[in-house]
Amino acid sequence: MSSDTLSVDVPTPAAASLPLVDNASILTPTSGFLAPGYTHTINAYRGCAFAGALCGTFCYAQHNRWITGGKPWGLYGAKRRAREAYRDDYDRIKKPRRGAPGPLRIYMSSSTDPYLPQERTLRLTRSILEEMITRPPDVLVIQSHHTMVGRDIDLIADLSSRCELWLSLTVETDMPRVPGLPPHASPPAKRLSTLETFRARGIRTQATLSPLLPIADPPSFARALEASCDRVILDHHTIGDGSPGGWRTRRTGFPDRLAAAGFGEWNSLDKLKEVRDLLAQVLGDSRVLVGCEGFNAVGERRSSGTGLSPLA
Ligand code: SF4
Repeated sequence: MSSDTLSVDVPTPAAASLPLVDNASILTPTSGFLAPGYTHTINAYRGCAFAGALCGTFCYAQHNRWITGGKPWGLYGAKRRAREAYRDDYDRIKKPRRGAPGPLRIYMSSSTDPYLPQERTLRLTRSILEEMITRPPDVLVIQSHHTMVGRDIDLIADLSSRCELWLSLTVETDMPRVPGLPPHASPPAKRLSTLETFRARGIRTQATLSPLLPIADPPSFARALEASCDRVILDHHTIGDGSPGGWRTRRTGFPDRLAAAGFGEWNSLDKLKEVRDLLAQVLGDSRVLVGCEGFNAVGERRSSGTGLSPLA
């Protein structure tokens, strides 16, 4: 499976020169947007190498000063103890000395990508997945912008038989390059074919159109999504960036750049409704989820993200 990376604007450190971050633990209790569905997030890297790619332009993690330390958004380091910390955290939650085991529903990853270029060499994400084979969480969502996840398909297939696992790839648009905006972290068409490959292996797949970007050919895109994933999660920067009215995204200048490139109408929630209705026609209502409810539709909440209520 191909895992090409398009060139991005910001230089990113080679794996060998990436600082190692000391970490006693690696599971972070969730709060905010992901709290309804997940108990923890897991991030093997500090910051993200895709900061200069399209998704980095509007990335929500860049607003978190605890992660950036006030530095420009980028990749800052790799966790020194990824596998060991997961093992320790898992045993603390699932094998407590006292009391009952706790739930463990993990979102991988919330403030980095598990399949950065450095992952090819460092294999931190892979080491965590290997550890999960004997210490499976209840739920695992592997969320990426990159097709390198194909490297781990055998491991992920094995793990998916031990827990509720979703491969979640962001596919915000069908355009290989959105005019006026930086390149993608990996080509959207290849993300779709990667989803299709995982789905054919019996692994649950979801495409996140988050945030929704201009789509060149909506009917064809809908058919491609129908063939490649079990469900789609739609989101829009005015409702999905965790700030009232999407001010965080506005602050990045992203909506202005869309408008300057001639795509101003995609800044409107009307476009989200239009695409949602089309996808519901092609995939069926139950496979089209929206916003926070959709992202959190795992475990006991699997059915709660269905339906069109958030935008009706
Ligand atoms: S891959 Fe995710 S964490 Fe990295 S820049 Fe893109 S949106 Fe942000």
